[in-house]
Amino acid sequence: MAELLEGLVISHLGQGIAVEYNHEIILCQTLRRLETVAVGDRVSWTLSSPGQGRIEAILPRRSLLERPSRNGKTRPVAANIDTIFVVFAVEPHCDFLLIDQYLAVCENHNIDAALILNKTDLPQTDIIEKELLDYINLGYSLYRVSAWENLGMDELKSALKDQVSMLAGQSGVGKSSLTNAIIPDKDLKTNTVSATTKHGRHTTTAATLYHLNDGGDLIDSPGVAIFGLAGLTEQRLAYGYREFQPFIDQCQFNDCRHLKDKGCAVLMALENGDISRTRYERFLKLREKMPKTFV
Ligand code: GDP
Ligand code: ZN
Repeated sequence: MAELLEGLVISHLGQGIAVEYNHEIILCQTLRRLETVAVGDRVSWTLSSPGQGRIEAILPRRSLLERPSRNGKTRPVAANIDTIFVVFAVEPHCDFLLIDQYLAVCENHNIDAALILNKTDLPQTDIIEKELLDYINLGYSLYRVSAWENLGMDELKSALKDQVSMLAGQSGVGKSSLTNAIIPDKDLKTNTVSATTKHGRHTTTAATLYHLNDGGDLIDSPGVAIFGLAGLTEQRLAYGYREFQPFIDQCQFNDCRHLKDKGCAVLMALENGDISRTRYERFLKLREKMPKTFV
């Protein structure tokens, strides 16, 4: 029986999975369905032939980010992420509903969330500043940066140390510009993965884990900028609004939907100003948007 080794999944390739072991990259196959293994997974594997391996088991995960796929099922996007940095900017138009959606998913998946306001070189608006106050009061970290003018990038880079991170956000906010600023040798590293595993093209949408020069890892996942509510239920969505959490248990009925329900502590907190009205209104909108199969 071949020796069991422990490695890190750094990318999904067309013909297999790139596993890093001892500073080398090994192309691995798996007896499971390929989609069940995610970038960021720690796996035990065995050598099947020189330079080729077989994944035997996925080691326990501290977090798993999923996205909806067909038939109401989900597919893993990345495993063991510590923090998702939600990127937004004055343009394209800042979508706070989408920001709340990411934050709610993180809150429910044991993943920390932080905010990145990019393009601070452009004129800013009061509306954004006003909304940002709510997030800051809720304890979310905010990094103000400009990928173009290299503003605020040192603070951001030091936040990425010693953990596994991913950038999320709508298209056009500057995720790839930021990724290139954070990993200047990204193309070189991507080519190394392809060359080592001898499988030419590593598709541009493949999620890939990069080690940062100052420590920490960044999972670049260009194909999944928006991962939806990832199978959350209505109850989980409410929990995803972290300021609702202390009140949810105090609602008179334990199946309270926090809409017009009698004895709802969340609504009471809203009346008292302990919950921001714009956040509550976005909760209602996201609730409406939920796929009915999950409600
Ligand atoms: P992505 O779709 O989120 O990956 O965004 P991109 O990195 O492709 O950037 C989208 C557009 O925003 C491009 O035209 C970038 O040049 C521009 N952009 C990125 N960062 C900045 C920035 O810091 N300031 C300004 N003004 N534009 C930026
Ligand atoms: Zn309630």
